[in-house]
Amino acid sequence: MTDYSCKFKTLETNVVHAGRPSPNVEGAVVTPIFQSANYLMGEENAYGDVRYMRLSNSPNHHVLHARLAVLENTEAALVTSSGMSAITTTLLAFLQSGDHVIAHNSLYGGMQSWFDHDGPRLGIACTRIDAKTAGGWDKALRPNTKVMYVESITNPLMEVLDLEAVVAFARQHGLVTIIDNTFASPVNFRPADIGIDIAVHSATKYLNGHSDIVAGAVAGTRAHMQRILNVLNHMGGSLDTHAAFLLERGMKTLVLRVERQTASAGRVARALAANPKVRQVNYAGLETDPGYKTARKLFKGCGGMMSFYAQTADQAAHFLERVQIPIHAASLGGAESLVVRPARSSHLGLTPDERARIGITDDLVRVSVGLESADELIADFEQALAGA
Ligand code: PLP
Repeated sequence: MTDYSCKFKTLETNVVHAGRPSPNVEGAVVTPIFQSANYLMGEENAYGDVRYMRLSNSPNHHVLHARLAVLENTEAALVTSSGMSAITTTLLAFLQSGDHVIAHNSLYGGMQSWFDHDGPRLGIACTRIDAKTAGGWDKALRPNTKVMYVESITNPLMEVLDLEAVVAFARQHGLVTIIDNTFASPVNFRPADIGIDIAVHSATKYLNGHSDIVAGAVAGTRAHMQRILNVLNHMGGSLDTHAAFLLERGMKTLVLRVERQTASAGRVARALAANPKVRQVNYAGLETDPGYKTARKLFKGCGGMMSFYAQTADQAAHFLERVQIPIHAASLGGAESLVVRPARSSHLGLTPDERARIGITDDLVRVSVGLESADELIADFEQALAGA
């Protein structure tokens, strides 16, 4: 029997070694790609025991499940075919027709649309709360409320909710808490440490870190993960083993990458905040940011993501044309810095009115700080703003 329970003391060591197979597969130092859809039958007692790639039970899956659980400090974890598959599979494991969710009002665009359109089609309603104020949430509560869904750092406004208040509120009312921890990553925040039930990730972003696969992750108690796995097995959102191999490889540098991106982002945010062409910077690492106090208390750092409002929409557009180092593209969390206008990309599915209501206007630019020199990035941003 292969053992995947290897675990060390620190995040730095675990990100490289946790869950590695023992004994090593044929002596290989890294987990080989198990490019086999199916396996010999054995002593199966349950459907989930049948070895088949869609059932997420290849050695590539086992290593990632064990490693992610250690990184998120949970009993168990799963990988999925995308971040959206991680989130929707998790929601569908806890919600059915007639149920109600509470979520905050500015979310990743895909989830914004899911709660507005797909959820209601399935009979699942959602009430939005303001991410900036803790309390007053009783008004959103209904007898059929089952789940509270939040992002640890919201996309694209980088708000930080009072997450301890979220846990207290959810416990008081018997709600399951689900947090999208993509932006913070387990390097800067582990939701289980403050009592959040389930963390989901777009592993496409920081966990993989190289902009070359789409993947998702979920972490929580063994009982919750079993419930989610049952849904995943039938919804079919399992991760292909080739992508699993790349995710395991990418994750080995997670700590190095995120620490560096966090340090650089702090410097970039301060430079942008001092620039007269910038109306406002959204980054919880800035003392003036509304999320600063909570982030200081709960997070090790505020991560590599930020957004800023230029003085006008035209200036934002010119900035994107003039900037030399970052690539103008959607997604985030890779080695290369990326810049994008959320109103023109992730939140294009919303009407202009819906976007304006939550502050996602055409003058808003989102920045994913990569691994380039912070000095060179700041100089590039300054020349792009000067000419914008
Ligand atoms: N959550 C956040 C915060 C995201 O930014 C994204 C994608 O941009 C997703 C979830 C969805 O992830 P994926 O694109 O891997 O399905």
